[in-house]
Amino acid sequence: MFHQQLYTQYRRQLTRVVLGALLLQGTAGLAQRKTATPAKGTNAISAIQESDLKRDLFTLASDHFKGREAGTLDELKASVWLAEQARAMGLQPAGDDGTYFQFFHLQRTRISETSRLSIGNRQLTHGKDAVIFTPAIASVDAPLLFVGEGKKEDLDGVDVKGKAVAMQLSGTAPADLSPARYILGMIRQRSADLIKAGAAAVIFVSSEYGQPVYNRYGGFLERGRYDLAGGPNTRVFQQAPVIWLPSTALNLVKQPNQQFTNLVNVESFSYPSVNVVAKVPGTDPTLSKEYVLFSGHQDHDGIRQPVDGDSIYNGADDNATVTVALMAIGRAFVAKPGRRSALFVWHGAEERGLLGSRYYASNPTVPKESLVAVLNGDMIGRNDPDSAALLGSQPPHRNSDDLVNIALAANQSGPKFKLDTLWDRADHPEGWYFRSDHLSYARVGVPALFFTTLLHKDYHTPKDEADRIDIKKLAKMTRWMYLTGWDVANRPERPRLVNDFKLER
Ligand SMILES: [Zn+2]
Repeated sequence: MFHQQLYTQYRRQLTRVVLGALLLQGTAGLAQRKTATPAKGTNAISAIQESDLKRDLFTLASDHFKGREAGTLDELKASVWLAEQARAMGLQPAGDDGTYFQFFHLQRTRISETSRLSIGNRQLTHGKDAVIFTPAIASVDAPLLFVGEGKKEDLDGVDVKGKAVAMQLSGTAPADLSPARYILGMIRQRSADLIKAGAAAVIFVSSEYGQPVYNRYGGFLERGRYDLAGGPNTRVFQQAPVIWLPSTALNLVKQPNQQFTNLVNVESFSYPSVNVVAKVPGTDPTLSKEYVLFSGHQDHDGIRQPVDGDSIYNGADDNATVTVALMAIGRAFVAKPGRRSALFVWHGAEERGLLGSRYYASNPTVPKESLVAVLNGDMIGRNDPDSAALLGSQPPHRNSDDLVNIALAANQSGPKFKLDTLWDRADHPEGWYFRSDHLSYARVGVPALFFTTLLHKDYHTPKDEADRIDIKKLAKMTRWMYLTGWDVANRPERPRLVNDFKLER
């Protein structure tokens, strides 16, 4: 009933916003930059201006858009703003039905409010004082067994069959791993082992060290899982529950002779997200039928647990930086089109599992064969001013030697970043290559690269704010993506795919 109501209300608001956007067309609400046409043979790199990037960044990453969470009205508002900017700067619509939009549905599966959880006679609420890991149906009534820190010696000779096994998480992450990856990895591994050994449920209590991770990631899990219609995450199944508790729950789980009960009910519903798609047609009669795709995502994480009193996750670096970089690149292509066409796809629902790019890669609005390269950016405005990374530049993810060489040459001809090589490796513990939208295109055999300035301590927190972005660096990254795309758009041959390239993961 609850989600049904939400959806109906959403549909009504959506209609209003879209109508509003249509009415905006033709009004002179937005200032349009007048850029002088560059001389023949030169590019239009001078059209990329720090002042434009800064203005657009501070608008998109402002509290007005409430963190642009996929499937909410806030993501839609940001997308409508973006489409209106694209129209005002002279980009042509390239979405569905002659519009700038490609709508698609998210399927969300989450734990319903009818679920119940208790330890002894204490009731706990999912999303408030406990987190149930997986939205999977469960019904457990079992004795609670506390096993200390759950180490090998704690579990030696202990019969976990039919028990709800509780432990306190311990240890600290090694230097090359974030605390979150370390803790979530430990929870995943240990719970799998214990469930395999017959545990009826597994309960983890945060350590002091792990409590900030609980504070930050608990809310993500509480939202449930998302997928495109028919995807693996839409399946509802049964599983022994895995529970994550704050450090304050340690005394509770240590009490002897307690019963653990947990009834997990699951609900699933669909609601809309959207890709914004625009183009600048190429000038060559033949090559203009091919496209260089510039890729970013406009969604972020919405409103979540407050940090220092701020609950809006504005996602300035992630990924307002690339959203506005694509706008600046769009201005440059309008000032001077390439021989091939430039296609701009601002993906929705990236943060919910690369869903917008997965949808576009399987439902492109231009023929798939006409996509000659995907230049994706994600988080391009932080860290050391002179360093950056190009993912997809090393085997096994290097899917086009031509494209990598073009991007490296563009770096040398312009920004001259010192390029990090560690994060592109397949065995890097963060798995960075697998965490943005280029992946969806590499999977379907399009030459694809990922431009980034990597992780920082404000990643996925309300502190990822516009005033922490290095605007000069953002402009340099924008110019690098532009110069790469400009070269691809104008050379006689399209970048070749590495023979027999196949993505392993
Ligand atoms: Zn992100």
